[in-house]
Amino acid sequence: MLKFSDIVGQKQIKEHMQRALLDGRVSHAYIIDGARDSDKDLVADVFAAAIQCADPATDANGMPEPCGKCISCIQAAAKANGDIIYVQHEKPKSIGIGDIRLMRDDVAIKPYSCEHKVYIINDAELMTAAAQNALLKTLEEPPEYAVILLLADGVSNFLPTVMSRCVTLRMKPVPEEKIEEYCRRRIEEEASEHPGEPVNTGAAEIKMAAGFSGGNAGRALRILGSESFDAKRQAAAALFENIGSRTGADLVQAAQEFSEKKAAGKTSGKKQPKDAVAEDDNNIVDTWKLTDFLEIWFHDVSIYKATGERDRIVFCDHTDGIIRISDRISFEGLQNIRNAVGEYDKRRRANVSDETALEMLLLSVRSQLH
Ligand SMILES: [Zn+2]
Repeated sequence: MLKFSDIVGQKQIKEHMQRALLDGRVSHAYIIDGARDSDKDLVADVFAAAIQCADPATDANGMPEPCGKCISCIQAAAKANGDIIYVQHEKPKSIGIGDIRLMRDDVAIKPYSCEHKVYIINDAELMTAAAQNALLKTLEEPPEYAVILLLADGVSNFLPTVMSRCVTLRMKPVPEEKIEEYCRRRIEEEASEHPGEPVNTGAAEIKMAAGFSGGNAGRALRILGSESFDAKRQAAAALFENIGSRTGADLVQAAQEFSEKKAAGKTSGKKQPKDAVAEDDNNIVDTWKLTDFLEIWFHDVSIYKATGERDRIVFCDHTDGIIRISDRISFEGLQNIRNAVGEYDKRRRANVSDETALEMLLLSVRSQLH
């Protein structure tokens, strides 16, 4: 069911939306700015359902919630509400003028059965300048019933003219304790829906997922459910634990295994759209690069070295390895590793292949621990 109270954190956004609904002052266009897996799609779904609900309920604070019972709410929860439109785009990495023109034609048609028509454009940061200019016409003179929600990962790509016509709401990182609490609740809910099946998610795994989630509740849940994420994480940890004693040839091989080219080839070749779980699993793994794990690993080392607190280690099933490395490396060495990651990013921007850039990065990390 879609409810504001089911969204973890994001108090400001929820309040803003509920206040707008209560006052009947919903704007025609919003940008919801948040990282991948930050639950911005859930926020958009709840807002859309609330806008369309025929008989809104109220939450504990007297603020509006979608009722969850009217036809519109039931259809919204099933993603089958004809007046909540998920704008599709032809190319995976860009939203072009053709995509937006199709949407504009649709905007001109009155709602089917609800009072409004809500358009949700995911990955809106992928809109080309031409597409944004096409959208601008709708943003300048929207029909009374139209609400457009642009979900974006960063706003730097938006034209100022588009930004100025939208209300921008930013997703905030959720504190780890709240994410842990959310994961526990979701696991319990699932267990009660499937009685008899063993629950094998422990407190340590939940803490680990919350630590790796970067403050994104949706991402924490996906990490928890992904076996291949854990396999990749363990492989990365095994590499970092002994990186000081690895040979150059070992590191070249590791760079090969972890490079983006190989990771991408594994999934894009044979997608199985039928198996949504497997696809989701691939997505979460693909977005995690070796450098993401490396940054967290050495951040753990820095924090432990500075504070001596085991509890703050995100790689919580590798605390011994983190502690061993923190004994062997200086603060200067840790700074050099941070610089090496910066160099890696620079090389990638200069189109050096991921494999070569990774090789150089791993060799510099090793030189700090040799
Ligand atoms: Zn309703």
